[in-house]
Amino acid sequence: MERLVDLHVHLDGSLSLETVKELAARQGIEIQNDDILIKKLQVSKDCRDLNEYLTKFEYPLMLLQTIDSIEYAVYSLMKRQSEQNLLYSEIRFAPQLHTKKGLSQEEVVTASLKGRQKYFDELRQKENIKEGDIPSFYSNIILCCMRGNSNERENEETIRIAAEFLSDSDGVVAVDLAGAEALFPTSDYEKLFAHARAEGIPFTIHAGEAAGPESIRQAVDYGTARIGHGVNCIHDKNLMNIIAEKGITLELCPTSNLNTKIVNDIKDYPIDKIINNKIKVTINTDNMTVSGTDEASEMKLICDTFGYDGNMRRIFVDNAIDAAFLSNEMKEKLRGNL
Ligand SMILES: [Zn+2]
Repeated sequence: MERLVDLHVHLDGSLSLETVKELAARQGIEIQNDDILIKKLQVSKDCRDLNEYLTKFEYPLMLLQTIDSIEYAVYSLMKRQSEQNLLYSEIRFAPQLHTKKGLSQEEVVTASLKGRQKYFDELRQKENIKEGDIPSFYSNIILCCMRGNSNERENEETIRIAAEFLSDSDGVVAVDLAGAEALFPTSDYEKLFAHARAEGIPFTIHAGEAAGPESIRQAVDYGTARIGHGVNCIHDKNLMNIIAEKGITLELCPTSNLNTKIVNDIKDYPIDKIINNKIKVTINTDNMTVSGTDEASEMKLICDTFGYDGNMRRIFVDNAIDAAFLSNEMKEKLRGNL
């Protein structure tokens, strides 16, 4: 079975049903039957837009407000990804959305890193891995800032703690900007990304999903290393040239884009146009539970629809390793595990 990489996967949108039940049980919350739970967590086939899509995060976020639950959620997502034959993943979440019961953003991130460590310790022991070597599956964390109108302080705090955790080089590798792109334009976040740049924090930005090419152009101007989605770049040839020249990689999430009606039919997904313009793309899940998908299904969907062969699959995985927020040394180690 081929090894896969998922660079764009949100923690809150990717909790398995079993994990959700376990989190509810641990907090004394009544566990509902599977049908009701699936309705709460996953979009219906006739999902209309991003607004409906975003309602599916309410229940998991309610469950992810304690140190124990965050630790367990990260642990179990990594376990699941490892079982799905992933080689590497970058799991993202917004620390500021997990502070409703009084946790600080720093405590939220520390809890996630504990969950990560717990899974690695388990895997290392199972695989008898020496110190310094990486196990068959590896994973890091991206911290999301959120688009919004009254959370400037929270976003600044996310950048501040990202800088702190990055200096430990132990799990946190980058920041992101997520949330309602059509309501809060990327141009509002100039100061935030100036701060990230000043701290030397690498970043990716959700852009060109619910908004047009101008949003992507702004992200490129900020110095983004990657773009989350970015499919709307196809409407601006000049922008596509710039993305290609700068070697910026797109994190495509096909089923998620179908759910939010960026395209109505996967046959209309503009991946060929993007690739033909020499832009590097990766295939990702975005939210495994909300979209009812996994990395292998996304890869299959794209390859079956567009007739891509094994070589193309390998290019998508190579692109993901190249674009990962990792040192060259770590990338080489990962390639050794392919
Ligand atoms: Zn996303």
